[in-house]
Amino acid sequence: MKKYPFLDLATVNAPYMDAMREAADRVISSGRYIGGPEVTALEDWLCAYIGTRYAVGVSTGLDALRLILEGYKALGRLSDGDEVIVPGNTYVASVLAVSQAGMRPVLVDPDNATMNLSGEGVSKALTEKTKAVVPVHLYGRVAWDDELSALMRDCGLIAVEDAAQAIGAKGVGRVGNAAAISFYPTKNLGALGDGGAVVTDDRELADAVRALANYGSDRRYHNIYKGFNCRLDPLQAALIMAKSCDLDSANVRRRERARLYTRLIDNSLIKTPTVPEDEQSHVWHQYVVRVGDGRRDEFRNYLLDNGVETDIHYAVPPHRQPCYKEFSEVFLPVTERMVGEIVSLPISDCTSLADIAEICDIINRFR
Ligand SMILES: *Cc1c(COP(=O)(O)O)cnc(C)c1O
Repeated sequence: MKKYPFLDLATVNAPYMDAMREAADRVISSGRYIGGPEVTALEDWLCAYIGTRYAVGVSTGLDALRLILEGYKALGRLSDGDEVIVPGNTYVASVLAVSQAGMRPVLVDPDNATMNLSGEGVSKALTEKTKAVVPVHLYGRVAWDDELSALMRDCGLIAVEDAAQAIGAKGVGRVGNAAAISFYPTKNLGALGDGGAVVTDDRELADAVRALANYGSDRRYHNIYKGFNCRLDPLQAALIMAKSCDLDSANVRRRERARLYTRLIDNSLIKTPTVPEDEQSHVWHQYVVRVGDGRRDEFRNYLLDNGVETDIHYAVPPHRQPCYKEFSEVFLPVTERMVGEIVSLPISDCTSLADIAEICDIINRFR
């Protein structure tokens, strides 16, 4: 039987193999293994690509988020115990960053159609302790609109974008005060290991993040903060740069695949994701359909029996994780229903359009 893998990273990276080998050779023979020109080159590319004044390479997407919050604390603009609004249906990292920075995550249901934070959801959760919001551009779709933007401005809130899944989507990295990028291997621009970045137009924040990520040091042997070691590995920076020129076309290929799924899936039991008016504001990190009537697991097993691998992003929401017992009383009806209905279908560039058409045929035969 033919197999349709969910994601095969060796195949995804195969087109860049020569460029990556060359990049790795360059780093190995350079003698420079921390910081240096490879990291700077990636930071310069990020500024130009995203359109921010500053970019700081860091170790992971989680650390990028945490360092933004720690950076605002170091500048006196956020404090321990501040409330930070985070969508309830995100990956646990978005919430962990807030906890680790000593602040209080306040989990909010997303809008049922976009599966992203809405101005309405955020405004209901506001208290006088709310100081920041983390819009998560989930599945690659921009979580930002005029209502959210006006709310942030009117209430003087700091917007920290979790852009881990959405590099390349229109406005991502620029709509908030600062944004966290992840180069985790499965992301739209994936390294061959961990990597992340902070992008912002705020010079003070960029300087604070850069120092905090390097033991709190602003110059050699001079520590202005009790910092961390969260630097970006130059080898990963060089490997990411070897792929970066193809990011836009990779995102175009994802859009093409998403469009085909939406056009071909024709089964009343399967709901395709809503599509934003402006196509450019979605980069389809995941293509997530919904299956109601408690039949999601049956649908997944049916697909697997027909060779189609799927995944669930995310099977257990942060507030139901054992590490977050403090949220055991929290009830998020939209998130909880969604978690039982969602299925992520294969959407990487190595899922050919012909394979997607075949997957849709299989989906349409589910009864
Ligand atoms: C992947 C991801 C992160 C964390 O990024 P890492 O680089 O794995 O630390 C944070 N938030 C979201 C939404 C993610 O998908």
